[in-house]
Amino acid sequence: LSERLSGVFERLTKQGALSDTDVATALREVRVALLEADVSLPVARDFVRRVQDKATGQAVTKSVTPGQQVVKIVHDELVHVLAGDTDPGRLKIDNPPAPILMVGLQGSGKTTTTAKLARRLTEREGKRVLMASLDTNRPAAMEQLAILGNQIGVDTLPIVKGESAVQIARRAKTQASLGGYDVYLLDTAGRLHIDEVLMNEVQAVRDVANPRETLLVVDGLTGQDAVNVAAEFDGKVGITGVVLTRMDGDGRGGAALSMRAVTGKPIRFVGLGEKTDSLEVFEPERIAGRILGMGDIVALVEKAQQTFEAEQAERMMKRFQKGLFNMNDLRMQLEQMLKMGGMQGLMGMMPGAGKMAKAAEQAGIDDRMLRRQIALINSMTKKERSNPDILQASRKKRIAAGAGLDVADLNRLLKQHKQMADMMKKLGKGGMMKQAIRQMM
Ligand code: GDP
Ligand code: MG
Repeated sequence: LSERLSGVFERLTKQGALSDTDVATALREVRVALLEADVSLPVARDFVRRVQDKATGQAVTKSVTPGQQVVKIVHDELVHVLAGDTDPGRLKIDNPPAPILMVGLQGSGKTTTTAKLARRLTEREGKRVLMASLDTNRPAAMEQLAILGNQIGVDTLPIVKGESAVQIARRAKTQASLGGYDVYLLDTAGRLHIDEVLMNEVQAVRDVANPRETLLVVDGLTGQDAVNVAAEFDGKVGITGVVLTRMDGDGRGGAALSMRAVTGKPIRFVGLGEKTDSLEVFEPERIAGRILGMGDIVALVEKAQQTFEAEQAERMMKRFQKGLFNMNDLRMQLEQMLKMGGMQGLMGMMPGAGKMAKAAEQAGIDDRMLRRQIALINSMTKKERSNPDILQASRKKRIAAGAGLDVADLNRLLKQHKQMADMMKKLGKGGMMKQAIRQMM
């Protein structure tokens, strides 16, 4: 992807806002790249469409190219899609004993992941964990789990030959209750492909165990197939999350995006090796970086944006110190306040401004008020904004009418502007301004 994209992006070198053509060209390549990273076609198409809406018309940060900016937008959107609103590392395992059902195709890494998860819950969360293998198909599958249990010091359900998966699940439940375990993990059998027998068995186990979490274990190296697997398991069994294994390999991680988009279920953990300590909580940024393969560009754009904001803050500060505070400055401040959750958020950050925050609260300054004030400023001409002193009755009338408000509202704004200008001057002299503005930006 990197090579493919950098070619396109080098051609997009002009500055300014992102044009339709810039975005379209870049996104055509992004789409191909997503497909190459094993993202399924409908998911890639849908994703690109969303990025297109976000990117078009967006201003390009100074010192980066439009192409680089698109990469950043694509990256941020990837992170957004990959990240759910659940905390991936926190499983629902209150009310002991909590059953966790592990499902997936054969060889996806269920047994290994079961042990990894057991180890994590034991060592990090201090849980008492019981593991049970329900794999009656593969020879030595049960022994495999028992050996792993021994290695990590986690109990496994004693093996009884001849039992069905459902019988083992029942026994695990009883044992977990009697033994005072917090969690019990049920490691099911897989098949090479989805089939009826497998699904029926997993459903039967689910009905007996009534699992708190059902984690689908998927090989991160499998591409588009992962989507079918995820959709099938989610439809037939109902999953609560996904574990992606073999992410230590060179898979691009596209499966993560597809599965997330298709099932809407959170990706919880990532397997990064064969050892039982190589399980990590899913981090969307890392997978996004992998899918896109353009970490340097993302970092570059972030840096440029920070620099730009710092420069802006610096400029603003210099103006304030000189006692310059016109309507453009005020508008910028009001917009900033809106962004930061109102007057209080802003004032809380400014040294010595606590009193004003209280006053603002008492005066009923809220988001609606901020928006009205911004509307008033927008209704002024450029000249009026940079020099509000020229505002006489007729101008005031026009401005207020333009914003759909009264002259009295405008007068209040002007008074506030005057007060703030005075305050800025004072703060500027005190030398505390720099830090305050930095924090605001
Ligand atoms: P199951 O059939 O789903 O139970 O799969 P297993 O847990 O038996 O794993 C199959 C193979 O994949 C084993 O050789 C594991 O060591 C290996 N494996 C599992 N998870 C990972 C992983 O995250 N990284 C790597 N490199 N190998 C893994
Ligand atoms: Mg297994």
